[in-house]
Amino acid sequence: MSKRDYYDVLTVSRNASKEEIKNAYRKLALQYHPDRNKSPGSEEKFKEISEAYAVLSDDEKRKRYDIYGHVGAEEVFRGSEANFDEVFRDMGFSGVKDIFEQIFGGRGAGGFSGMSGNDPFGFGFSFGRGGGRRKGQDIIYDIELSLEDVLKGRKDKLDLPKLEKCNNCGGTGAAPGTKPKKCSVCNGQGQTRHIYNQNRFSTFVSLEPCQTCQGQGEIIDKPCNICNGSGRVRRSKKIDIEIPAGVEDGMTLQLRGEGEPSENGFPGDLLIRIHVRQHPLFERLEDGHLLYNLNLKFTDLALGTEVRVPTLDGHEKLKIPQGTQPNTILKIKGKGLPRYGGYGKGDLLTRIDIKVPTKLNDRQKTLIKQLEIEFQSREEGV
Ligand SMILES: [Zn+2]
Ligand SMILES: [Zn+2]
Repeated sequence: MSKRDYYDVLTVSRNASKEEIKNAYRKLALQYHPDRNKSPGSEEKFKEISEAYAVLSDDEKRKRYDIYGHVGAEEVFRGSEANFDEVFRDMGFSGVKDIFEQIFGGRGAGGFSGMSGNDPFGFGFSFGRGGGRRKGQDIIYDIELSLEDVLKGRKDKLDLPKLEKCNNCGGTGAAPGTKPKKCSVCNGQGQTRHIYNQNRFSTFVSLEPCQTCQGQGEIIDKPCNICNGSGRVRRSKKIDIEIPAGVEDGMTLQLRGEGEPSENGFPGDLLIRIHVRQHPLFERLEDGHLLYNLNLKFTDLALGTEVRVPTLDGHEKLKIPQGTQPNTILKIKGKGLPRYGGYGKGDLLTRIDIKVPTKLNDRQKTLIKQLEIEFQSREEGV
C-alpha cells in the first residue's frame, strides 16, 4: 500500500510553519488518540499522523522528505526531533510511552524496541525514574445525573481515595532511619540493556525493566510499615466539583491535576464520566430540546382548549388550537435544556396524541352516534 503524502495527512500546506504543523498534529491526535477514539481504523490513523509529525516537525527530515519522499518507518522516528511528550502533556492522555508501545508494538515489531526504554533512538522523550516526566494516574469517577441536574448544573462534594506521599517514610518507602539503596545490577537505572542481532546488518537494542529491583532502580531492605515500601498511602480527599448545565450522557469532564500524583511529574487528572438517567416524562432530543407526549380527548382537539404541561421546573400553559391533529408538535420556547458549549436553551416540544375512550355509557354512545350522523349528512350535503 502506498503511503499518503505527510502534508495531506496532517492537512497542512507544503509551506506550513512548525507551529502550524504542531497545531495540526495536536488537533488530529486529540481526535484519533486510541484512548479516546475506539472506532476501527483510528489506531492506524493515529499511527499515520504520528509518523507524519515525526518527519515534518524535524527540519532535517522534512527537507529530505521534500526532496526524496517517504523513507522507512524506523528511519522516521530514529533521531527525530519530534517532541511527542510536549504535545501530549497537556492533552490529558496517559503515558505517551504506553500508547506508542501499544500501537507500534513492543520489542521485535519493526524495530521499535527502543520505545520501551529511555529514548535510545532519540525519539525526543524519555520515561521512567531517570528523569521521565510521567503523568500520574487519572482517576475516573462516574456520576449519575437527572435531567433536572442537567437543567441547572450540579455542585457536588466527592470523596476521593487518593494516593498521597507517606508521611512516615517521607515517600521513600524505607523504614524511618533507613534509606533505599541503589540497585547494583542496573546501577540505579531501573533498566537493563539487551542487544538483539536481527541479521548481519542491523542490531536492536532493547531496554527492559531490571529484574532485581523491579525497575525501581533502588532496593529497600527494610520497608516502611505504614506504606509497605510503596512510599504512598491512600487517603480520602474531599474535592468540590461543579457539573455545568447542559452536559450530555457519555461526556467526560476533565479536572486537570486532580488525579493521582506522580513521583517526578505532573499529577493525573480527575475524569468525571457523565451518565444521565432517563426521565419518566421527557425524552431528550438534539440541541437541548425535550419531547413530551400528551394524550388529549377528541373533543379537546376538535374544539381547542388550554392545558397545563409539566416542565423540568414547574408547569406551563399550552394552548391547543381548534382542529389540532394527532402527532402535531406544539412548542414552548426555551423550556428545554441549556445547550452545552452553545447558546441558549432548547424548547419543550409537546407531541399531541388522541385518547380514545374505551368505556362509554349509553348517553355518550347516543351522542357520538348523533355526531356521526351529523357528520355524514354534512358530507352528503356537500
Ligand atoms: Zn511509608
Ligand atoms: Zn536494578
